[in-house]
Amino acid sequence: MTTTANYPLLFQPLDLGFCTLKNRIIMGSMHTGLEHGGRENFQRLAAYFSERALGGVGMIITGGIGPNAIGSMFGADNDKLTTMEEVEKHRLITDAVKDADPDCKICMQILHSGRYAFHKDLIAPSAVKSRINIFTPKEMSGDEVEQTIDDYVRCAELAKEAGYSGVEIIGSGGYLISTFLLQATNQRTDKWGGSYQNRMRFPVEIMRRIRERLGNDFILVFRISTMEMLEEGSSWEEVVTLALAIEKAGATIISTHFTWHEGRVPTIATRVPRAAFTQVSGRLRKHLSIPVVTSNRINMPDVAEQVLEAGDADIISMARPMLADPEFVNKSRGGRSDEINTCIACNQACLDHVFKLKTASCLVNPRACHETQWEYKPTSKAKSIAVVGAGPAGLAFATTAAQRGHDVTLFEAGNEIGGHFNMAKRIPGKEEFAETLRYYSRQIELTGVKLKLNNKISAAALLKGQWDEIVVATGIAPRVPGIPGIDHANVISYEEAILATKPVGRRVAIIGAGGIGFDVAELLSHKGISSSLDVNVFAREWGIDFSNHPRGGIANVTPQVEKSDREIFLLQRKNTKPGKSLGPTTGWAHKLSLIQKEVKMLTGVQYEEISDEGLKVSIDGTKRLLAVDTIVVCAGQESSRGIYDDLLNEVESLMHDKSNIHLIGGAEKAVEIDAKRAIEQGCRLAAEL
Ligand code: NAP
Ligand code: SF4
Repeated sequence: MTTTANYPLLFQPLDLGFCTLKNRIIMGSMHTGLEHGGRENFQRLAAYFSERALGGVGMIITGGIGPNAIGSMFGADNDKLTTMEEVEKHRLITDAVKDADPDCKICMQILHSGRYAFHKDLIAPSAVKSRINIFTPKEMSGDEVEQTIDDYVRCAELAKEAGYSGVEIIGSGGYLISTFLLQATNQRTDKWGGSYQNRMRFPVEIMRRIRERLGNDFILVFRISTMEMLEEGSSWEEVVTLALAIEKAGATIISTHFTWHEGRVPTIATRVPRAAFTQVSGRLRKHLSIPVVTSNRINMPDVAEQVLEAGDADIISMARPMLADPEFVNKSRGGRSDEINTCIACNQACLDHVFKLKTASCLVNPRACHETQWEYKPTSKAKSIAVVGAGPAGLAFATTAAQRGHDVTLFEAGNEIGGHFNMAKRIPGKEEFAETLRYYSRQIELTGVKLKLNNKISAAALLKGQWDEIVVATGIAPRVPGIPGIDHANVISYEEAILATKPVGRRVAIIGAGGIGFDVAELLSHKGISSSLDVNVFAREWGIDFSNHPRGGIANVTPQVEKSDREIFLLQRKNTKPGKSLGPTTGWAHKLSLIQKEVKMLTGVQYEEISDEGLKVSIDGTKRLLAVDTIVVCAGQESSRGIYDDLLNEVESLMHDKSNIHLIGGAEKAVEIDAKRAIEQGCRLAAEL
C-alpha cells in the first residue's frame, strides 16, 4: 500500500516559488572519490545518483566540485567545473537523474577547498595553516578574491548548462568560504577582513552575483556553519547575521552544518545521538523566511518526521542513509520502514574510504558507488544453497542470494542471528548496530531464507543434503595468547566481558588495543546512560552548550565526563600510538572518550605472567606488576573453519568436485576481518552464484 499517512510532513511537497520539491528529503552532499576522474567515474556517479532518484528522494546534492583548479581538492584537472568538456561529463549525471525521475531535482555542490586542499598551490584569506593539513596556504590578493567570486559565478553558470536544477555553495566545514568568516583564519585588513560585515562579504557577494547572473529560476542553497565546534568559531549573532544576509542576497534554501573538519567534537559518528543538532537549525529557522535544511544523524524516517513536527526544519538532508539504502524514501512512503537498511554511522566504508583516497561505499550496502560494476539480477537458474553461520558474512550472502531467487537454508549454531554484531550493539555508542540485525531479520522473512537456529550442522550432515552450493561463513574464534598463566581464573574472553557472562572486577587489564580492545574499554569504563541515547549527556560529555550557544558552540565550556569506578589498563605490544588501527574519522573520538574516562593506555608491553597478584609485564625493559582483578583478552582472532576443512576432506576422499563449496568472511581470513569485508564478500558471492 502506498500512503503518505505514515510520515505526512516528510511527504508534503515544498513550493520553492519557481519549482516544487516533491518531498522533504534531500540526499545530502558527500564526496565519493569519483568526482575527480574521467567519464568512467561520471558514468558510475550517474548510476549511483539515478538509483537514489528512482528510490524517491526529492532532491540530490552532488559531492563538492571546485570552481577553479586551485579550489579543487586535488589541484588542476581534477574535481572542478570550468570548461565545456567538463559540462559534458556532468550531463551524464543530470540526464541519468532526469531519466530516472523527472521530478527529482539535482544540484551540484560548489566547493572551494581553500586551506584543506591536498596540493601545494592552496590559498586562503590569510596564510594560516590548518592543523589537519601539511601545507600552509598562500594569502589571496584582492584580485584573487575577486577572481574567485567570478569563478564561483562561472561554475554555477556551467552547472546550469550541464542540466543541474541549482547549486549548493558550501560556506561551512572549514573550506574556503568559512575561513573568511572567522577572525582566527581571516586576518586581512582590506575590505574582506576586519569587522564581521567585511568578513562575510565574500560569501554574500558570491550568492548575490550568482543570483544576478543566473536569474530567479535556479535553486541556490547555501550551507552555513551554525556551530563550528571550534573555540574561535562564530557567535550566534554572527550566524544569524550571515544567514539573513545570504537570504537577502538571493538564496533559495539555507542548509545548516555543524562542524569544521578540524573540530574535536564528533558530529556524525555513531556515538552522536540521532538528530542531536536539529535544535540549532530550528533556532535559526525562526529568523528566516526561506526553507531551512537540517542534517546529521537522522537515519530513519520517524526521526526525520519528528524533526519536522518540532518545527526545527523544512527539509531533512540525509547523505549516508542514502548510501546505505537507495530505496530509503520509497520504503518510508510505502510504510515499509522496517525494511530500511539503516546507516549505522560507522563511517567505515564511506568517509574513512574518502579520507584514505579510496572510492566511498557503505559497510551495510557494499554495492554503493559500484552500481555499474555489480548487480543483483534475478537468477535464471535457482539453486538450493546451504549457508553455515548467521554472522554478517552469512546473513549478507543468504539474504542477497535468496532475493535473487535461490532457495537458501541458513544454519546457525547459536540461538540468534548476528555473530559479532550482537556484541557490537552492546557497546555504549554503538547501539545502531542493532538496526542491521533488524534489517537482516526482516530480509530473512521477505526473501524466504529458511533459518535453522540452534543447529550446529556437521560436514557429514551437509554432504547428505542435495545442495547445489555450500557456503561456509563460520566466522572467527578469539585468539588465546600463550602467556604463562593464561588459564588463570581471573582471565576472561572479550565475549564473556561484553555479554556479561563472567564478572569483571574493579581493576582491569585489557590485552590488545585493537577495535575490540577499545570497545571493551568503552563498555567497562562506562557509567550511566549512553551518551548516544541522550543529547544532554552527549552535550555535557563533549562540552557543547546548546542553550547559550557560545562561539563555535563550545567556547569556554569544559567537557564533563562521568569518571569510571574502574581502573583500566589498555595494553598493546607495539610501540605505535594506541588506536592507530581504528577508522580515521571516528578513532580519534573513541580514543578521546577513553582518555577522558582515565583509561590508561600502555604501549610496548611484553606480557610476562598472569597470577593471583595480577598481570606481570615488562615495558622498555622495566618490570611492572599490574595489580588487577580481571584480565580481558582482546588479542585478535583466528579463523573458525573446521567445518570447511572437514567438508573438503570428505569431498576429496569421495573424488567429488569441490568448486561448489565456498568459504567467506572471517572463516576465510581472520586477519583484520571486520563487518565491512565480511558483508562485501557475502554480497559479492551472492551476486555471482
Ligand atoms: P585487531 O584490531 O587485530 O587487534 C588485536 C590486538 O591484539 C592488537 O592490539 C594486537 O596488538 C594484539 N595482539 C595480537 N596478537 C596478540 C598476541 N598473540 N598476544 C597479545 N596481543 C596480541 O583485532 P580486534 O580488536 O579483535 O578487532 C577485529 C577486527 O574488527 C579488526 O579488523 C578491527 O578493526 C575491527 N573492529 C573495528 C572496530 C571499530 O571501531 N572500527 C571495533 C571493533 C572491531 P599488539 O600485537 O601490538 O599487542
Ligand atoms: Fe552509514 Fe557506515 Fe554505510 Fe557510511 S559505511 S553509509 S556510516 S553504514
